[in-house]
Amino acid sequence: MYPASFEYHRATSVTDALALMARYGDDAKVLAGGHSLLPLMKLRFATPRHLIDIGRIAALGGITESGGSVVIGAMTPHTDVASSALVAARIPALSDAASAIGDVQVRNRGTIGGSLAHADPGADMPAVMLALGGQIAANGVTGERVIAADAYFTGTFTTSLGAGELVTQIRIPVPAMGSGSAYAKHPDVASGYAVVGVAALVTVAGGTISAARVALTGLAPFAARMPAVEAALIGGPATPAAVGKAAQAAGSGLDLFDDARGSAAYKANLAAVYAARALMNALARASA
Ligand code: FAD
Repeated sequence: MYPASFEYHRATSVTDALALMARYGDDAKVLAGGHSLLPLMKLRFATPRHLIDIGRIAALGGITESGGSVVIGAMTPHTDVASSALVAARIPALSDAASAIGDVQVRNRGTIGGSLAHADPGADMPAVMLALGGQIAANGVTGERVIAADAYFTGTFTTSLGAGELVTQIRIPVPAMGSGSAYAKHPDVASGYAVVGVAALVTVAGGTISAARVALTGLAPFAARMPAVEAALIGGPATPAAVGKAAQAAGSGLDLFDDARGSAAYKANLAAVYAARALMNALARASA
């Protein structure tokens, strides 16, 4: 299948990309890794008349630590996130997630910014951003806006990114001392997308869980925090038994239904199992 014809523009800088986006408006789409956009164009679900390629903008690459956060350029491919020693040391949940995306080809071309802009309900990065309290920096013609992950995901394939805004950076605060993070997913066999994926961040102080953020992707219309699990963890003992018990609340509040991927009861069990796996690993890393 071939996409509808379009005009290709290679942006040379963020300013250039923003100018092109402003000029072509709704007739244009930004092209990052193309691993979500191009399949949609081939199926003619997306028919942009202008494609604005941001792949050669050096300022959109790189992984650094700055101001207490790990800062990742929007065009950074999943492979680079997965193999970053900085990410592995500071926010291992992100390494877990990036290394479990699709296959080698998808990880080599797909980008963290593209994944967050696309906001697929089965994508891995949204859950990690929610659990780690990440921020999405976006530039528009009026300047930069920083959006907390908690306010960013608003629906299926929908975010609070405005028209004409370009995701430029992902910023994830380095967790406090005594913290551990992890991501665990049950992938769809064909694509690798999450049937369920759970990201967890726990902070331990004096044998007690003093803070916890847990988020789920795959079993809901869009990635979301799991307040019942977080409430069950905070103030409780930092033991495998306690986190295993808290994980049992993972299915609560989800509107589950039977489909080709399994029954509602099976999915509720998957949520609890993968919440427990992520939490056990996060707890082990907090104690390491
Ligand atoms: P593109 O496809 O180029 O763009 C996607 C959308 O985001 C477009 O609308 C585009 O205009 C917009 N966009 C891109 N960058 C920006 C930006 N900086 N600012 C504003 N808008 C922007 N994902 C997972 O999470 N887990 C998986 O297991 C997984 N498996 C996959 C398996 C296959 C076979 C394929 C094809 C994809 C898979 N993906 C998976 C998706 C993959 O991670 C995509 O690459 C990602 O979702 C989109 O990133 P991209 O860079 O390819 O973006």
